Amino acid sequence: MVRENTLTKNDLIQPIFVEEETKERSPIGSLPGVFRESESSLASRVKDIQQAGINTIILFGVSHHKDAQGTDSLKMNGLFSRMIQKAKNAAPDIQVIADICLCEYTDHGHCGPLAHDGAPDNDKTLSIIAEQAIIAARSGADILAPSGMMDGMIGALRHSLDTSGYADIPLLSYAVKYASSHYGPFREAAGCSLGHDGNQVTMQSDRKAYQMDPANAREALREAALDLQEGADMLMVKPGLPYLDIIKAVKDEFQMPTFAYHVSGEYAMLKAAAEKGWLDYEATIMEQMMCFKRAGSDGIITYSAMDVAQLLDK
Ligand SMILES: [Zn+2]
Repeated sequence: MVRENTLTKNDLIQPIFVEEETKERSPIGSLPGVFRESESSLASRVKDIQQAGINTIILFGVSHHKDAQGTDSLKMNGLFSRMIQKAKNAAPDIQVIADICLCEYTDHGHCGPLAHDGAPDNDKTLSIIAEQAIIAARSGADILAPSGMMDGMIGALRHSLDTSGYADIPLLSYAVKYASSHYGPFREAAGCSLGHDGNQVTMQSDRKAYQMDPANAREALREAALDLQEGADMLMVKPGLPYLDIIKAVKDEFQMPTFAYHVSGEYAMLKAAAEKGWLDYEATIMEQMMCFKRAGSDGIITYSAMDVAQLLDK
C-alpha cells in the first residue's frame, strides 16, 4: 500500500543481436542465455518477446560486410535495414528502436570514420549517421537511438529527419554514455571490439575521446542539456547500476523521459555469481530493476527483460 515505485513489463526494453549470413542462432559465451539471432530466427524471437508482454526492442547488427566508413548500414538491402524490416514484419505493433551508430559496421570498430589522430572524425561521422537515420526511418524503426556521443549528433539527425519527411520520429539520445569497463561482453556479442583490420592510421585504443569520464557528474547534465537543446525527445544513461546517481540527477534536472541501459557487464556479473551459487538471480535482478525505477528510470534496456517479464507473471 505504501510502496513508492512499481515495475511493469512496460518498463522493459529487450536488446537483440542479429547476425547476418548464419543459419542458426548462436549463444554468446560471455552473456549466458543471450543469443546472436540469425536473420531467420529473428521473427520468432520478436514474436516470443511480444507474447511475453514486452513492447519494445532495440536491435544491434553483427555485420559481415564491414568497411572503414560503415557504409553497409546505409543500404536498404544491408543488414541494418533488413533486421528492422524483419522485426516490424514479424510484429508490427512492437516498437523497434534502431541503434544509430557505425561501430557495428566499421572494420576498426570505432563509432565513425577515423581522422588522422586515430579517433573518429566528428563531422564526417555526423553526415554518415544522418543518412543512416533516414535508412532506419524508411525501414520502419519507431525510435532512433544515436549512441556514438559525437558533438552535434542530435541536431544533425533532427535536421536530417525533419527535412526528409520523418519529423515525427523521436530521438532517444545516449546523452550520457561513460567510457566504462562494463561493455566488454557487448563487444563480443556485437563483434565490434576495437582494432580489427584494414586500418590506415594508428588508431586510438579506447573510446575515451568521445565517451565520458566516470569521475564526472556535472558533465552529464551539460551533455544532456545540449542534446535537449538540439531536439532530443528522450535521454539515456549508460551503464546503469553504477550510475544511478546520474539517472536521478538527469531526471530531476530535466523531467524528461529518462532511460537506463543495464549493460552487458552488469548482466554478466550477475549471471556469473548466480552460476556459482553466490547470488539468487531472480531475487537480485528484480531488486536491481526496482532500483532503476526508484532512481527515476522510465524504461530499462536489459538482457534480463524476458526473465523479468516472466517473474512479473509469477
Ligand atoms: Zn558506436
